[in-house]
Amino acid sequence: MEILKPTDENISRAAEAIKAGRLVAMPTETVYGLGANAYDPIALARIFEAKRRPHFDPLIVHIADMATVSLLAQPPGSTARLLMAAFWPGPLTLVMPKKAIVPDIATSGLPTVAIRFPSHPVARALIERSTGAVAAPSANPFGYLSPTRAEHVAEQLGDRVDFILDGGRCEVGVESTVVDVSSGNPVILRTGGLTLERLREVVGDIELRDWSAGAPTSPGQLPHHYAPRSTLHLVPLGGLARAKPASGAAAIFFSNATRRNSGAAAGLFAVTRCLSPSGDTVEAAAALFDLLHEMDAFAYTEIWAERVPDEGIGRAVNDRLYKASMK
Ligand code: AMP
Ligand code: MG
Repeated sequence: MEILKPTDENISRAAEAIKAGRLVAMPTETVYGLGANAYDPIALARIFEAKRRPHFDPLIVHIADMATVSLLAQPPGSTARLLMAAFWPGPLTLVMPKKAIVPDIATSGLPTVAIRFPSHPVARALIERSTGAVAAPSANPFGYLSPTRAEHVAEQLGDRVDFILDGGRCEVGVESTVVDVSSGNPVILRTGGLTLERLREVVGDIELRDWSAGAPTSPGQLPHHYAPRSTLHLVPLGGLARAKPASGAAAIFFSNATRRNSGAAAGLFAVTRCLSPSGDTVEAAAALFDLLHEMDAFAYTEIWAERVPDEGIGRAVNDRLYKASMK
């Protein structure tokens, strides 16, 4: 494994590696992705092996221009076209009926393919210079915290990845929003970097299929995911005031205000941190995985976290915290 600065020359080197069927971790605006040539089933098999990812969990194919959609998927309907025009490039993944060129291993045998056009310049350059379609799940072992820095990838995957392009810290910090536009009305399969509110501005009402109410509706929407090694106890916003932590536990507050309001309870923790001192959900999303990685390195006996406000990108933060808390 080699960590590369994202110079022109290094991006080209990494692109050659993709073409040769190797794995390259790339920075995106959401989290780091573990990329491979989306047209090469053997390269895709390496992703599953490197991540120890179950084969029923399909990959997102990353593209770098709108025209590639027609190579991978059936012609998009009007809703899909609206969403593409409004939010691509950006943290939105669209699930569409696939074409035969997309290997079954990329879609776990489903008749649909998940496609995203990232905005990160390094990801875009890597995709453009390699094969134009790079499948990339988050660059972490299956079930574990998503990486928001190159070091997280290096620590977690080591020599299971050939190159890591170091683009610094990811700006959004949580994964893309996944919207199924493969039939009839659009359905949100996973909350993420693009908010429900912004989606509604463009397509009106949109169903949020909350898998936690029942069985997962999409492969990979497993209840246990994004988890640190320490047990994570999740409580409602403001609920840390009633926490009963073990000694040596860490607390994650939403903001300075909620920490202050928790009164004496904050003193029961070995360490307390705030996702966003000023109480901003966007800042909280960007800080989430970074902070969890940091806390995991210290191996606190437990991590206690409170939910953040359930609005905007706060929904995606709560989804990740909830899944991290499931055993
Ligand atoms: P990630 O692990 O961040 O790469 O996210 C991939 C997720 O996108 C999967 O776990 C699924 O939840 C979703 N996904 C990918 N492809 C499809 C598909 N064809 N149909 C439904 N959901 C999909
Ligand atoms: Mg993932």
